[in-house]
Amino acid sequence: MAQAQTSQEGERFDYVIVGAGSAGCALANRLTEDAAVRVCLLEAGEPDNSPLVRMPSGAGELLRQKGKFNWGFETVPQAHLNQRVLWQPRGRGWGGSSSINGMIYIRGHASDYDHWRQLGLTGWSYRDVLPYFKRSESYAGGEDAWHGKQGPLTVSAPESSNPIFPAFVAAGEQAGYPRTDDFNGANQEGVGPYQLTIKDGVRWSAAMAYLRPLLGVRRNLEIKSRAHAHRILFEGKQAVGVEFSAGPGRPLRSVYAAKEVLLAAGAMQSPQLLQLSGIGDPDILAKAGIAVRVARLAVGRNLQDHLDVTVVHECPEPITVYSMTKGLRKYGVGLDYMVRRKGAGRYNWLESGAFLRTRRELEVPDVQLHLVGGIMLDHGRNAVEKDGFTVHVCQLRPESRGEIQIINADPFTAPAIDPNYFASEVDRRTLRDGVRMARDILRRPALDALRGPEYAPGESVRTDSELDAWIRQTAETIYHPVGTCRMGVDPESVVDEHLRVRGVEGLRVIDASVMPSLVGGNTNAPTIMIAEKAADMLRGRAPLAPEDAMVGSTT
Ligand SMILES: Cc1cc2nc3c(=O)[nH]c(=O)nc-3n(C[C@H](O)[C@H](O)[C@H](O)COP(=O)(O)OP(=O)(O)OC[C@H]3O[C@@H](n4cnc5c(N)ncnc54)[C@H](O)[C@@H]3O)c2cc1C
Repeated sequence: MAQAQTSQEGERFDYVIVGAGSAGCALANRLTEDAAVRVCLLEAGEPDNSPLVRMPSGAGELLRQKGKFNWGFETVPQAHLNQRVLWQPRGRGWGGSSSINGMIYIRGHASDYDHWRQLGLTGWSYRDVLPYFKRSESYAGGEDAWHGKQGPLTVSAPESSNPIFPAFVAAGEQAGYPRTDDFNGANQEGVGPYQLTIKDGVRWSAAMAYLRPLLGVRRNLEIKSRAHAHRILFEGKQAVGVEFSAGPGRPLRSVYAAKEVLLAAGAMQSPQLLQLSGIGDPDILAKAGIAVRVARLAVGRNLQDHLDVTVVHECPEPITVYSMTKGLRKYGVGLDYMVRRKGAGRYNWLESGAFLRTRRELEVPDVQLHLVGGIMLDHGRNAVEKDGFTVHVCQLRPESRGEIQIINADPFTAPAIDPNYFASEVDRRTLRDGVRMARDILRRPALDALRGPEYAPGESVRTDSELDAWIRQTAETIYHPVGTCRMGVDPESVVDEHLRVRGVEGLRVIDASVMPSLVGGNTNAPTIMIAEKAADMLRGRAPLAPEDAMVGSTT
């Protein structure tokens, strides 16, 4: 079980980054701003050369099947969801999950970051992280106290003229909720339009924002695609490089980092790589036949994700995804997009939503609604040949905690993913209440002309026990796993507030896995913020000055 020491035969860089996803692309960009610093970016997948990735409406196709751009993981049977095995898409290739995601730009609530600060994490309050959100962003609405205008990540307003999205917002107002035109501004609570990472009709992934502009320009950045990291190489306690290959049975290669190795492989695979490198729970490592380098029970644990249920209505008008793409029409949509960059392909079909409190005494919203302009059951894998629309309901701060653990020493075997969804009564009550609130909005007059019968769960599902049963049978992830390499000030945490892995030198984790608690919203922008902030740490720069943008009370 002993692991070989290294002879350091291989290419040498200052930093080796593992994973070209949301965090990895931002890091690679910021670190190579310094021409004297040489960076190697290892990515298991391929360059993001696909019209499906570029075309915002392609998301529906990319997320529902395993393939070149999607690892297509599955959970272990879920104890509280009728032992179902749930689908877990994760992006693979340049841009990582930002190349297959829904393109919603949300930061979470200011109080989420203030909570991190209250956990003792200096430098992570909302005042501290706001300047990094702003630095990353180019907001189409212009610069203000909450938004930046100079960053690589374009954030735009929805632009389809589909009446479903404004009708949903109007229905929410009729139900008594405030309208908010900026979920990332002074007040998150209410109903309103989403902001999107789409630029001129093109998905603005982290690769488009941070990586592609560097191609042929930054000679100090080397991107190695089809480079699947097997383990981190150490000399004593010092991380010195990464061993990788192009696939099972292919030759092993190594790259070395004079300064640091930076894991940005995401919430599923950063903990997997730590474990494959001997950092984790000794019992789990022993079962996999891996020698313990650092005993750390927290690796892979503290998994949190947004569990999601859907309320679906049929629609009497031929204006939803089904009519826009049925039969041969979908080829027309693709052609129109490729030739003129026009038509239904330009849109993500997810343009409005809500952040609501299920109980008046709560200080911040605890459920989020996403309105999709089509029938979406089981991630769209359960095709329904009808016009309709779907309201996704997710609980923002679940109490349930799960884990990710390797099952053997093979880097190509997916880890066992157990989010342990729906384990807590608070989670169950919140989702039930969220469904009732979504239904209340959906019955309002603003949607009268567009609302057909309720397709799911169906009018017969009303009581707590009926709703619980239906949730157990149908709930799925809305794709925001975090927390598996938890940042903390306690000695048991995986990384400290500078994202350094405890117990070794020269190794950090910089991605969604370091979040100590799940933020109340989608996780792409927060992950990019983490990488922006980490880049300043690595470059030895003073953090950007904290900013006070007034965040309104929600009560
Ligand atoms: C289908 C889907 C829809 C989503 N919708 C939204 C949304 O609308 N808005 C939003 O804000 N968030 C959304 N998210 C979540 C958001 O995209 C992620 O939280 C974010 O991209 C995570 O960034 P990351 O850097 O932690 O990991 P990732 O972006 O997943 O990057 C990890 C990278 O590491 C690579 N990698 C993994 N293992 C290895 C290895 N061993 N060797 C080399 N490379 C490796 C992967 O291939 C990948 O490219 C969605 C996610 C998914 C999957």
